[in-house]
Amino acid sequence: MRDRIFLASPHMSGYEMPYVKEAFDTNWIAPLGANVDGFEEELAQYVGINHAAALTSGTAAIHLALKALGVGEKDVVFCSALTFSASANPIIYQNATPVFIDSEPNSWNMSPKALEKAFKIYKPKAVIVVHLYGQSAQMDEIMEICKRNDVPIIEDAAESLGATYKGKMTGTLGEFGVFSFNGNKIITTSGGGMLVSNDEEAIKKVRFWATQSRDSGRHYQHSELGYNYRMSNIVAGIGRGQLKVLTDRVEKKREIYRSYTKAFKDIKEIEMMPNCNDGESNNWLTCITLGSNTSIKPLDIILALENENIESRPVWKPMHLQPFFKDYPFFNHNDKGISVSEDIFNRGVCLPSDTKMTATQLTSVTNIINTLFK
Ligand SMILES: *Cc1c(COP(=O)(O)O)cnc(C)c1O
Repeated sequence: MRDRIFLASPHMSGYEMPYVKEAFDTNWIAPLGANVDGFEEELAQYVGINHAAALTSGTAAIHLALKALGVGEKDVVFCSALTFSASANPIIYQNATPVFIDSEPNSWNMSPKALEKAFKIYKPKAVIVVHLYGQSAQMDEIMEICKRNDVPIIEDAAESLGATYKGKMTGTLGEFGVFSFNGNKIITTSGGGMLVSNDEEAIKKVRFWATQSRDSGRHYQHSELGYNYRMSNIVAGIGRGQLKVLTDRVEKKREIYRSYTKAFKDIKEIEMMPNCNDGESNNWLTCITLGSNTSIKPLDIILALENENIESRPVWKPMHLQPFFKDYPFFNHNDKGISVSEDIFNRGVCLPSDTKMTATQLTSVTNIINTLFK
């Protein structure tokens, strides 16, 4: 059987080992150390923000962002419906109530129209806006609505590191931005996350909570609940090496998207996930939707590829359709009928977007799909 082609797998650059070796040589194996400071500074500089806290995961970053905004019991938090469950789970960790907001069709991200509807009913403590598959949400509209209602934004930029909105990096537009370095993300540390903000006090507080909320002083004293959420110095070393090739990875992801676009241009049943004009997606995953009247369904594509040892998968199943979250409120972009996010879920496929994929491998993927439509 031929080598497996992955959706998105770790792609090391060779720059990681010297940082990791230095951590070994100086015995800085514990959390904290030069790589943690360095990774925070270098990532903050890359995206153009003042402060960053390196954490064990993107999920931990969302959790502490909610805590920093004072989200607690009885609070409501709005969250994009079309996302990975990690965007919403931390709302429950804080004993707050998620309210899910539908997508709009152009970016697949939070619908300003549905957001307005939700604000007519609820006064949330925070809004979590996801930049899905590497594409920025319509931030001008969303920020205007949130500002008018005096509610802060957490950008879940776990999938969109390196993507821009009107010239600014995603993750730097809201009160807080969240990045993930999980194994499938555009750069990876095997696992890890980063919370960024221009609010220095908030980031300092987050580092304090993330290291067990230990008060200063000789003995162990705790005045607040603590968490063990700090990134280790070894992991941060991998991150520093990965950051050196982030620009190359973004370019490669965009090239993959362009190749798929070209390969499918004559197949009217296949529509590419739109690339918005307001910014530049990092095209973390290239996604397509199939026309609702075609006999070929997403599962047919997924199975045809799997047959050739190629990984693909459905688009995220929206949160309001998840058994765990189904009883929480949801606001539809459409005035009646099926929601935009459910429609995308029904018709969408995420295609292999691995940056290690060769041109030949990519052609074999597109040939398999094209054959289905002949
Ligand atoms: C990956 C991901 C997360 C979670 O990041 P982890 O580092 O895996 O905890 C959150 N939100 C979205 C949209 C993601 O894709």
